[in-house]
Formats: sequence, structure tokens, C-alpha cells
Amino acid sequence: MLKDFIRKRSIHICLVCTGGCNGCDIEVAALLSQRYDLEQYGIFLHNNPRECDALLVTGTVAKQWQEKLVEFYDKVPEPKAVVAIGACALSGGIFQQEGDKVSAPVSDIIPVDAEVPGCPPRPAEIASAVLKYVPPALASYRRKS
Ligand code: SF4
Repeated sequence: MLKDFIRKRSIHICLVCTGGCNGCDIEVAALLSQRYDLEQYGIFLHNNPRECDALLVTGTVAKQWQEKLVEFYDKVPEPKAVVAIGACALSGGIFQQEGDKVSAPVSDIIPVDAEVPGCPPRPAEIASAVLKYVPPALASYRRKS
């Protein structure tokens, strides 16, 4: 019962990789290790957008991902936040030269509340961005509605 109470007041995140080298995804996965222990901050990783508060988006948004990313975003219940992670999500990164096969930045496709630069960013930087930007984004989303 206490666990349910606390989980309702936690941040539930969903990771979406939209095309890249998966380096950023490995850094997000590292957050679940004992070294970083993401859950100690009340952040839980899900694979279902319908159960999350925030989307963590990595990758260049390959052309095939453009519509799917919007579908993912629409499935997240309100209030919601988006954190774009890594150079690919912010600008296309090393995949910029692929031209029209790449739809980055993520902010051109869906609203982004926080950006974490780096190739890849460190796990601590990702956790810090989630803790710093997601709660205010959710609160302001509530105020808007
Ligand atoms: S930002 Fe760098 S590490 Fe992350 S997916 Fe792109 S190339 Fe890989």
C-alpha cells in the first residue's frame, strides 16, 4: 500500500529510440544499474506510453519514425513532458548528412520540455534533467488545462 502511494507521486518515464547508434539508450539503461539507482529518486521506467508522465526521446527521428513519434506522444496521458536526449535528438547529430531520411530535431515533431546535449550524455546528466525539468513541466501543464 505504501509502495502504491509513493508510486502515484513518482515520475514514470518511457524511453523511445527513433533511430541512432543506441549509445544514448545504453546511458539511459545505465540509470537502472546499482551505481545510479534511478528508482531512489522516484523515477520509474516503463515501456508503455499510456502509463508514463514523460517521454525520453533519443535518436535522429528517422523518416519512418516521424508519424510513430506523434502517435507515441498522443498516447501519453496529460499532463506530460518530453525530454530529448543526445545530439541526434537535438540536431540530427552525426546522421545530419543523411538529408531527408532524418527528421530531427525532435522539437520539430513534438513539444520538448528539456534537452540533454551530448553524444552520448552521461547518465547523471539525464537523471538531473528529468528531476529538474519534468516536475515543473507537469505542473505548468496542469495549470494550462
Ligand atoms: S547522440 Fe551520439 S550516442 Fe546518442 S544515438 Fe546519436 S550518435 Fe549515438
